[in-house]
Amino acid sequence: MKKFYFSVLGIFCFAFTFAQNHADQNLINREVGAYRKMINFNINPNTLNYDLKYQRLEADLDPAQLFISGTVTSHFLPSESFSQIYFDLTNLLTVSQVTYHGAALTFEQLPTKELKINFNTALPAHVLDSLTIKYSGVPDSSAGTSFYAGTHNGSPVLSTLSEPYGAQNWFPTKQSMNDKIDSFDLKITAPAQYSVGANGKLMSETVLPGNKKLTFWRTQYPTAAYLIAFSLGDFIKTNGEIGNSSFPYLNYLYPDTSSSPAVQSNLEWTKEAMTVFETYFGPYPFSAEKYGHMEFAVNGAAMEHQTMSSMNSFARSTIAHELAHQWFGDKITCGAWNDAWLNEGFATFAEQLIFEKNLMTHGEFMAHLAGQISNITSLPNGRIYVADSDLSNVSTVFNGRLTYVKGGFVLRMMKWILGDAAFYQMLKDYTANPAFAYQYAKTEDFKNQILQSTGKDFTEFFNDWIYGEGYPGYIIKWNQAAGNPNVQFLVSQSQSDPSVNFFELPLPVTVTGTNGETAELILENTSNSQAFSKTVNFPVAAVEFNKECQIIEKNSVVVFDPALAVFSGQKDEVLLYPNPVHNAFLLKGIAVNQEFIIYSVSGQIIKKGKYTAGNMISVKELPTGVYFLKIAGKNLKFRKE
Ligand SMILES: [Zn+2]
Repeated sequence: MKKFYFSVLGIFCFAFTFAQNHADQNLINREVGAYRKMINFNINPNTLNYDLKYQRLEADLDPAQLFISGTVTSHFLPSESFSQIYFDLTNLLTVSQVTYHGAALTFEQLPTKELKINFNTALPAHVLDSLTIKYSGVPDSSAGTSFYAGTHNGSPVLSTLSEPYGAQNWFPTKQSMNDKIDSFDLKITAPAQYSVGANGKLMSETVLPGNKKLTFWRTQYPTAAYLIAFSLGDFIKTNGEIGNSSFPYLNYLYPDTSSSPAVQSNLEWTKEAMTVFETYFGPYPFSAEKYGHMEFAVNGAAMEHQTMSSMNSFARSTIAHELAHQWFGDKITCGAWNDAWLNEGFATFAEQLIFEKNLMTHGEFMAHLAGQISNITSLPNGRIYVADSDLSNVSTVFNGRLTYVKGGFVLRMMKWILGDAAFYQMLKDYTANPAFAYQYAKTEDFKNQILQSTGKDFTEFFNDWIYGEGYPGYIIKWNQAAGNPNVQFLVSQSQSDPSVNFFELPLPVTVTGTNGETAELILENTSNSQAFSKTVNFPVAAVEFNKECQIIEKNSVVVFDPALAVFSGQKDEVLLYPNPVHNAFLLKGIAVNQEFIIYSVSGQIIKKGKYTAGNMISVKELPTGVYFLKIAGKNLKFRKE
């Protein structure tokens, strides 16, 4: 979902706007009120005892009238024997009848927005069964409640947008984040001059007596209830093909939108975006049905309804964002709203991908990334993973700075750590993993996928960046002695929020020589006041940090420090640095592993150990003072601070 505005001009001039508009804030406030009564924001425990296999929604609608009259037939598989079944449904709509095998059942509409249906005898476990619910009423059409009636150029439009908690506002369903509806049929009867866009394949449009038309859409891909949607209005329909395997590409647009050359150009460009995403994320997940866009009555919003995104404007970044959701959000849906970044962070990263590969010059892309870093670090704290206590607050679940932008940038950092090839292979493994494909995944599932795909454990990284808050700032001191090929670095780090005590990261450093030579260096920063020596075979004139915006950091400085210890490069010289030592030191000039001993000034043995060439020796636990390191027949004096 995209409910905040990108300034298209801003992309090129740095001044990014991430303003949530005020209408949306009202929307959110109303939504919070509407859902306060929900038992649980992720799973309704009363619906856990059955698997919802299929629903058929048949409705009579007129876009000029805010009214729904429908029947929903549900096929369900009980996992245990039960005598009552629950569906999620607002009590603003009135259920008039529940039919089961031709007979009526008794039912209650509960204040918890549940429909409780009583069977005359207990149903057996593991036997597929079905019932039909007839209902009608005026859906709550206030902003944020999922049912929207509007007009466009005087012509009425009726549309839905149910994310996150609103499916139950217009049909009885199961909106728990653990059971997708395996297949869904939508049959809408409406005045014949209007068209209906929806999920899946268009099966038929049948003209009925009385200037009516029955439109029948069917999807046979599992769909989360909040991704079921339609838009009903005066649409121009275009039908083309898209994707590497050429599948249908449908667009349902208002006449004036459809006749806009700019919009048509962007819709044509969607084919390029599809190719980029199929290349990096794997095949489009719903190619047996279609991809498409339908315009809808929700101003300032766009929504990744499965197989047909609902759009209010057609900027390329928005098109890309909603398209990317078909993999991340729709094929793999966040398993709880705490994990909303698995939808939104990924779609925001996908925008980066399309900017980098297709839409922007390198300079424009760097400005875009710098703008994102500036947005992320505009506050010192805030967490990507949504706390249970914040689930009632939709603006926190869909926080632009955290869920979207920081969530997306954290993926860029993973790419930096893993390298492009390993990162994108991991994403393809994730979208293809049968445990998650057409199902749900949580943050820990994705973390385990990284381990499974790359062998790298991202626990510490997730603790810092997904569950922790804030960002690091660095002081990077450097020095190079005249005529010496080595550059010394001393790196210290501070954190903007106390929830993270250290961000372990490979730091991107670019050095430029006096004759314009450049070298890209990586400093594996695992502890504070950490020293590095890097061989650069040219005299260094300048050092730049995070030039390609690989990591989130703020207020970092790079300082040339002539006092920093340097190596003359003479043979046989053994050097210990940095000195004074904070936590650990490095040795220069000892190439083989061997024993070492640390003595106090009074000759007492303080520590013994085995030195591994190139690795640091930790003296973190030593009290402040002066010590001697005995190694390779040498005694090296150092001061611990
Ligand atoms: Zn989104």
